Formats: sequence, C-alpha cells, structure tokens
Amino acid sequence: MSFTLHGLGVSAGIAIGRAHLISQATLEVAHLTLAPRQVDKEIARFDAAVDAVRKEFLALKENAEHAPPELSAFIDVHLMFLADSELSAKPREIIRERRCNAEWALVQQMEYLVAQFDQFEDVYLRERKFDVVQVVERVVKELLGHPARASFKAGKAAREEALIIVAHDLSPADTIAFKDQRFAAFITDVGGATSHTSILARSMAIPAVLGLENGRALIRDGEQLIVDGMRGIVIVNPDVRVLEEYRLRMEQIELEKSKLRQLKNSPTQTLDGEAIALHANIELPGDVADALDGGAEGVGLFRTEFLFLNRGDMPDEEEQFEAYKKVVKGMGGRPVTIRTFDLGADKDLHPEASSRVKTNPALGRRAIRLSLSEPRMFQIQLRAILRASRFGPVKLLIPMLAHAHEIDQTLAAVEQAKSSLRGEKIAFDEQIPVGGMIEIPAAALAIGLFLRRLDFLSIGTNDLIQYTLAIDRSDEQVAALYDPLHPAVLMLLAHTLSSAEKVGIPVSVCGEMAGDPKLTRLLLGMGLRIFSMHPSQILKVKSRILKSDLSELTSAVRRLLRLEEPAKLRDALEKLNA
Ligand code: PEP
Ligand code: MG
Repeated sequence: MSFTLHGLGVSAGIAIGRAHLISQATLEVAHLTLAPRQVDKEIARFDAAVDAVRKEFLALKENAEHAPPELSAFIDVHLMFLADSELSAKPREIIRERRCNAEWALVQQMEYLVAQFDQFEDVYLRERKFDVVQVVERVVKELLGHPARASFKAGKAAREEALIIVAHDLSPADTIAFKDQRFAAFITDVGGATSHTSILARSMAIPAVLGLENGRALIRDGEQLIVDGMRGIVIVNPDVRVLEEYRLRMEQIELEKSKLRQLKNSPTQTLDGEAIALHANIELPGDVADALDGGAEGVGLFRTEFLFLNRGDMPDEEEQFEAYKKVVKGMGGRPVTIRTFDLGADKDLHPEASSRVKTNPALGRRAIRLSLSEPRMFQIQLRAILRASRFGPVKLLIPMLAHAHEIDQTLAAVEQAKSSLRGEKIAFDEQIPVGGMIEIPAAALAIGLFLRRLDFLSIGTNDLIQYTLAIDRSDEQVAALYDPLHPAVLMLLAHTLSSAEKVGIPVSVCGEMAGDPKLTRLLLGMGLRIFSMHPSQILKVKSRILKSDLSELTSAVRRLLRLEEPAKLRDALEKLNA
C-alpha cells in the first residue's frame, strides 16, 4: 500500500531506493574482555538490566488501559521474548565463556537470533526479528543507562538498488559513521533543521527528511521509498506514475546542477564588481575534495570536533597535526580556518556522559568552556593547529565565546602553545590570526569586547538563532519556531556586521544562513562579504551573487531591516529576491 509521510526537509534533492531500517541496538557497544574475577559481577549487571526492563514492560501494560488493544498484545510478545532463555539465559553463558561485557554478549546473541529468523519462509515469523531487536534495544539501553546510538553495517548492502537509511534518530556521530557508506538518503523520526545531523546531511549532499515522528514504525525493511528532501515528504511504496514523475524531476535537478557547475571557475563578484569570498564548511580531512569540487576559495570552518567523535579516546597531537596538515595542504595555499573543538551539547565525546543528569547541555560546558577547563587537551590541539600553520595560511577560530576573560584566557593558551613550540624549535606561523565565533547574543551585543581582542569574527547563525530565540536546534517539536528572519536575529547580525566594518575587522557568516540562496541578497545588503557554507551550496549562492547589484541592495536592505512585522519582512525579502 502506498502512503506519504510528512516531516522536515533538511537537505534538498530526491532519492529513490529501498528502506534500510537502522536498529538502535546494533549500536557501537564496547567490545570488552573481562578479567576472570569480573565475570560474576557482569552477569549480575545483566540480570539486573533484564529485570528492570521486565518491570518497565509490566508498568507499561498497566498504564496502557486507554491505549489501543494491540499495544498490550505487543508488550506481551516482548515480555515473552524477554523471558525466553535465548535472551535471558544465553547471554549469561556468552559472558562467562567468552568473558565479554554484557552489552556485547547480548548484541552477539541478538545477531544470532536475527539470522535464525531471517531463514523463516513465513513472512510473519520472519518479521518477529524486529521484536527481538526492540527487546534487546531496551536491555542494552538499560545497561548503558542512556539512549543508545545507531550504527550502520553495510553487510548485505551490496544490493542493486540505492539504500535509504530509516532511523528513529541519528546522532552526529552516527551520521559521520555513514559518510563512507553508499546510501542515497536518510530519514528519521526526530531532529531539527539545523541540528548537526541535518547539517551533515547537507554537507554530504544527500536528501534528508527529519522529524517524521513514526516513520521507523510504519516503514518496513526493503520497502521502496521516494525521499523528497525539498518538500520534506517520504512516499512509501509509490505507484508507477508517481515514480515516473519523480524520475523526471531527478533528471531536471541533474540538469540544473550541470548548469551550475559551469560557474565554478568564474570569479565571484556582484554585478557592480564587488568581490565576494565563498568558503566551505568541512568536518573531516576527506571533505577537502568536496570543498574544491564545490568551488570553495578556502575553508571557512573546519569543525574539528568530528575528529573526536566515534572513538573512546582523544586523538594525540601527532594524529591531529596530520589531519590539520592534510586539510591545509589539500587546499593548496587557500586559507583554512580551523575551529577548536566544539564538543558538548549534541556532540558528546564520551557517550556515557549523557547518562549524567544534564539540565541543558547546549547551555552547559560546551565548546571553549570545555577547552578551557581541560587545559592539557586544549594545548594538544593548539600545538597541532599551530604546527599545521607552517604548510599554508591557517586561521584559528574559537567557538562559543561570551566573555572577555574567555578570550583573554584563550589568547594566553595560544601564547603558551607557541612558546612551547619555540622552545622545541618547531616551526609555525607566528602571525596566525585568531578569531572568535559570534554565536551567543551577548557576544553580538557587546561586540566591542571581541573587536578589540581578535583578528577576525565568524557569525555562527545556527547557535545565534538557537540562543536568541531559546529554541533547541535539535528539537523537532520547536523547529517551526526556529526563524532566521526573526527581527531580533537580523538586528544582531546587522549590528555585528556594521560594527566590524567600522573598525576594519573581517567578518564571515558560517552558519546555515550563509548557504541559503534565499538569504544571499539580504546578507549582501547587510554588508557581508565572506560566506562559508557546506560545499554543495556554494555554486547556488554564487549564482545569486553574480546576479546581484550591491548599490541597489544596500538601501533596500536598510529599509527591510526597519520592518518588524514578519509578514512585511517576508514580502520585502521576496521583492529583494525577485
Ligand atoms: C553555528 O553555530 O552557526 C556554527 C557554524 O557552528 P555549529 O553549527 O558547528 O555549532
Ligand atoms: Mg555553533
């Protein structure tokens, strides 16, 4: 049966392929070998988790009075699976015999059972494997004490048709793990338009629809899907006519792309001759190829924290140095802005940290706050970045600054790293520019503190909007309130840009606003001359710039900024783009 799901289209494009359901239990559980004396304790931990999940199921059943009758029946099935010795006793044997940790024992047993179910001819029986997986998910989550991460194993992915990832949720760490895999799109039940997950989707230039709410429950493995990332819809089991229509649209999109590619080597300037810089945001050294292919004149934001994700340890100075050097050399003399790590919030270094009570991680010890509280870790990163500065023009960018003393402490830390390198006679760029992200309203308002202390600024609109409007950028329930055109956001942007211009400090925008062609003229008119965005957007933005006249835009935007009423503002923006 064909049906359509609606969500948030966060990465444009169309994909047609087969659903690949991601189990959140085949998560990256640690594979630990226990000492013999730890075995009994591990078995007790496993038993306690099974018991806790059983109690949870029973409580669910009790509270399910007003729920559909099927729910109670489903819980009964899950209780039955949980009580079965295959799930409640066999993992104990695995823990004892193979001396592995409880999570790993359980996942091994789950994989064995799923393989058994796969062999059933009867579709109904075969599909009971999903119940096994869901029960195991619950127990693993209980063991880990936090919502588990998904993982993707290409495994049988060598199917002919393109694969579409269907997940309840994907953390940035999950998404990054997919980077090397071949898949055509992804859709999730949760997630907002500027969550790091959707940013990654755009940076990988694959269509994505988030916030489908119950897509994962309704879609079955192997079903044919059309993902329309522009409209935010997913069509499950489309009929032939719809398929044809979408195939045609895919061809049109390809045609437009090939037209844009012709702009790649022309200079980026407005109709009245003002040069504009278009830089790329990257996450990993491997993205340099995409940046260059997309027409980037430099890297405006290297989100280094992605080097830290999906691993339990911290890359040492040598490993970081090699990664930074690779980017700098890869960009062949073009400028590279390396941001020190922005860990915390939704990009947690230690997954187990999320089990600790954190009232609101986005307001917590994130980014520079974390770096300053871990001076050894910070020194390692600063030294690695400084060492890479010998191979090309590198700028150092600091995320999430709010206070003057944070800037002062950071500059002192940079000085300390420089001095240690001098002592060891290791070469680096003594004049390396140090800049700050403007992504907290306090920073935009008290911009003088930043202009006096730093060499350049970069406005992170993703966080600036989140913090100005008090909208969690990764929460789909408030995604509709996340508004880049809110007058308060525009005021903060305009104030930052004009203040920096007065004192001749370069300022870029590296948030998602910079990569949205609908906002290109608005930003140009506000005075922005350096844009940094995911590589897939560069030529689209460039095409707008080539057709824009700054002398006209500046006065039109000045008038637009005086409008407070959202409807009037949107009308004015439409006229600007006409
Ligand atoms: C931003 O906040 O706009 C930004 C560019 O940084 P990130 O998206 O990595 O938080
Ligand atoms: Mg940010």
